[in-house]
Amino acid sequence: MVLVFRVRGAGAGVFVKERGVRFRFGAVLLAIALLGTGCAAKGDGNSVAARAAATDKLTIGVGFDQPGLGRKITDTWFEGFDVDVATYVAGELGVAAENIVWKEAKAPDREAMIQDGRVDLVVATYSITEARKQRVGFAGPYFLAGQGLLVSQGTTNITGPESLDGKKLCSVKNSTSAQKVKERYAKGAQLVEYFRYSECVNALLVRNVDAVTTDDVILAGFATQHPELLKLVGKPFSEERYGVGLRREDADGKAKVNAAIEKMISSGAWRRSIEKHIGPSGYPVPAPPAITER
Ligand code: GLU
Repeated sequence: MVLVFRVRGAGAGVFVKERGVRFRFGAVLLAIALLGTGCAAKGDGNSVAARAAATDKLTIGVGFDQPGLGRKITDTWFEGFDVDVATYVAGELGVAAENIVWKEAKAPDREAMIQDGRVDLVVATYSITEARKQRVGFAGPYFLAGQGLLVSQGTTNITGPESLDGKKLCSVKNSTSAQKVKERYAKGAQLVEYFRYSECVNALLVRNVDAVTTDDVILAGFATQHPELLKLVGKPFSEERYGVGLRREDADGKAKVNAAIEKMISSGAWRRSIEKHIGPSGYPVPAPPAITER
C-alpha cells in the first residue's frame, strides 16, 4: 500500500481522499435533501404561512382589469374586492399591505402561476372546480357568483344563453364560462376567446362580438363603466364559488387562509368591502358563503 502510494505519487492518495471527502459531502447533501422532503411531506416547509413568516412578503395574483374586483390603478395602487380579500388574508398571515407583490393573474395562467411558484396565492374571481383541484389547492369559498351575459344596450334578441344561436360570443380561455358555453350552449354560437375580459368588452363595444359571457359580478363591473352602452341580460346560469388558490399540498396554508376568510366575514370587513367596490354596480350583496374547502 505504502509502496503503491509512493510510486503512484501523492496524487493517488489525494484522489482517494478527495473521493472520501466527496462521498461524505454527498452523504450530507443527501441527508439535507431527505430532510427537506420530510418537511414538504408534513406540509410545513411548503406552507404559504411559513413562507410569509420567513420572508415577510407575499406574491399574490389578482386581476388587473376587473372593475370592482381586481384593478391596477398605478404600480403601487390596486383596488377591488379581490384585492381587499388578498390584503386581509396577507394581514392574517403577518404580511403588511405594502409588502404584497401584486402580479396579474390572467384566467389562462392561474394554475401554472401557482404550480411554478410565480405567486404564493391567487385571488382573482377564481372558481373552485374539480378539474383545477387536480393541479392546485383552494381555500374558501369567499364569494358566490353566477354566470351571466353582457350585451349592447340596443340588443333585444339576446335574452339568455338559449338565445345565442348564430351569435358571436366572447369569453376568456380556460374560464369556466367558456367551458360551460362550449358544453351546453355553443352548438349554434360562435365562441371567440381572449385572454382578459376587458378585451371581450372592447370587442363588444366596437361590435366585433354580440355578447360577452362570464360571472355576473364581473360583467356588472364593466357595465357600470359604460352604462349608456352595455347591459346585463338574463338570469345567472351557473354557480361560481370563488376560492383562494394556493399550492395543492399546502394543508396548513389552506387552514390559515380559511381562518382569515372567516374572520373577514365575521368582522364585517367582508361586507364593507363588497358594499364599497361591488355595490356601485347595483350587484346585490350576497349572503356570505360557508367554507367548504377544508
Ligand atoms: N370565475 C370563473 C373562472 O374562474 C370565470 C371568471 C374568471 O375566469 O375569472 O373561470
